[in-house]
Amino acid sequence: MAIPEHVEFVIIGAGIHGLSTSWRLAQKLIDKGEEVDGRIVVLDKSGIASGASGIACGVVRNNYFQPAMRRLMAHSVDVWESDPEGLSYHPVGYMQISCEAMREDVRTIFEQQQEIGYESVFIEGENASTNYMRGMFEDWQAKNITSVLHEKRGGYSNNTKAMYGLSAKVEKLGVRIISGIEVKGFVTDSTSNAVSTVVTDKGDITCEQIVIGAGPWVRDFWSMLDLPKQITVKDLDGEIHKNVDMWRYWQLEEGVLTVPPEALLTDDGKMPPVIHVDTDAPLYSDVDGSVITEEMWGIYYKPDWHFGGVQGGASPYKVNTPVDEVAIDPYGPSSPEFVSSQEFAHMWVSALAHCHKRFEGTMPKYHREPSGGIGCFTPDSFPVFDKFNENVFIIADSNHGWKMLGVGHLVADEVMGENQELLEPFRFSRFEKGELHPVSNSPYPWS
Ligand SMILES: Cc1cc2nc3c(=O)[nH]c(=O)nc-3n(C[C@H](O)[C@H](O)[C@H](O)COP(=O)(O)OP(=O)(O)OC[C@H]3O[C@@H](n4cnc5c(N)ncnc54)[C@H](O)[C@@H]3O)c2cc1C
Repeated sequence: MAIPEHVEFVIIGAGIHGLSTSWRLAQKLIDKGEEVDGRIVVLDKSGIASGASGIACGVVRNNYFQPAMRRLMAHSVDVWESDPEGLSYHPVGYMQISCEAMREDVRTIFEQQQEIGYESVFIEGENASTNYMRGMFEDWQAKNITSVLHEKRGGYSNNTKAMYGLSAKVEKLGVRIISGIEVKGFVTDSTSNAVSTVVTDKGDITCEQIVIGAGPWVRDFWSMLDLPKQITVKDLDGEIHKNVDMWRYWQLEEGVLTVPPEALLTDDGKMPPVIHVDTDAPLYSDVDGSVITEEMWGIYYKPDWHFGGVQGGASPYKVNTPVDEVAIDPYGPSSPEFVSSQEFAHMWVSALAHCHKRFEGTMPKYHREPSGGIGCFTPDSFPVFDKFNENVFIIADSNHGWKMLGVGHLVADEVMGENQELLEPFRFSRFEKGELHPVSNSPYPWS
């Protein structure tokens, strides 16, 4: 198939953000009575869903301590809810089940959810929390739990099914997706800083607007645009930190317990919400009773027919390799270096058994195939959504992004000249200005 020489809108990356952006862009052109064909192209060096979007657990939640993240997620949940079938979305809800150290933070989240009209209930106290959980699962046995935030919206979607649904949607609107084409660099205009040409391994493409949704590969695009590898960050106390790496990698640890997914239906046979537990109760091995940790730990899980069992994960770990030396390819389960560890399997299954009696003794059912993958994080672990070089929009989601289906829509609106208030708290300048997002007591870099 011939590679076009000129396209108005070049979108790089056929992941959730690239496709979502192209969806809204195409719809906007159609709404204005204009043609789409030949004007929007999505380029991917591999193919649809070959990055983080193809391996994501798929959880969609609002539970964030940061007000700007909550408002953004509420917008994205609206987009998921616009077509559950086409997007393979299961609106089962989400539960944040926490120990005392997190109760105040989670109560704040609940109160602010009420303010923005995001439906949830909040249960407080050890007995009340246990009773609430036993109302769903009679074998619930997690310890040190003193609050439950039950979000009635959100849930999860099936990664590749959703991505193929999304790509079918955009192709129907006239967007062209080209796989197997690698972007190698950019040529800027001689009179301005704008990018006039996208250089690929299949030839040059001139264009007017570029959107980069490159997931873990954002580091490489940042270099192609000569953006600073190290930056100055003013923290929430006003302290200045110089020469902070712009990017860092974390390994996301996820896996599947190959029991029938029905094993996690509620006692009355319904789909449960996605469950997320954080506790400071000591975690003991379900294999030999040894102590796994006495620090705070957390897991999340759901029954999943797409993964074929109970699927979920735990806290990620920091990749200590210097950022420029991290090998992103081959990505995900194909990586020889970055896949979920044996320790993860032991910890996660023991944690499942800590929460539900039904999972005691199930370690042999943990699937042994490689899983998980790396994510690229910013200095404060929250996204950067911003325009660079006048016409290049970068969507760097700091690995929060499967749930953020709506971000591409907001980006498309900005590309068409309409500034979006929901994106304002995520500009690159926040690091220098000290306008960082508040930090919670959760053990995750993303809550
Ligand atoms: C194991 C795991 C589980 C996760 N679970 C969740 C979850 O439950 N909920 C949630 O909200 N988020 C989750 N995330 C995060 C989420 O998956 C990502 O934030 C999101 O998918 C990133 O989407 P993207 O479109 O930016 O990038 P990607 O999906 O990574 O797509 C980027 C695309 O860019 C292409 N590309 C790269 N370089 C080039 C180049 N030079 N030229 C052309 N194309 C190129 C790649 O081939 C790739 O297809 C998870 C992440 C991981 C790793």
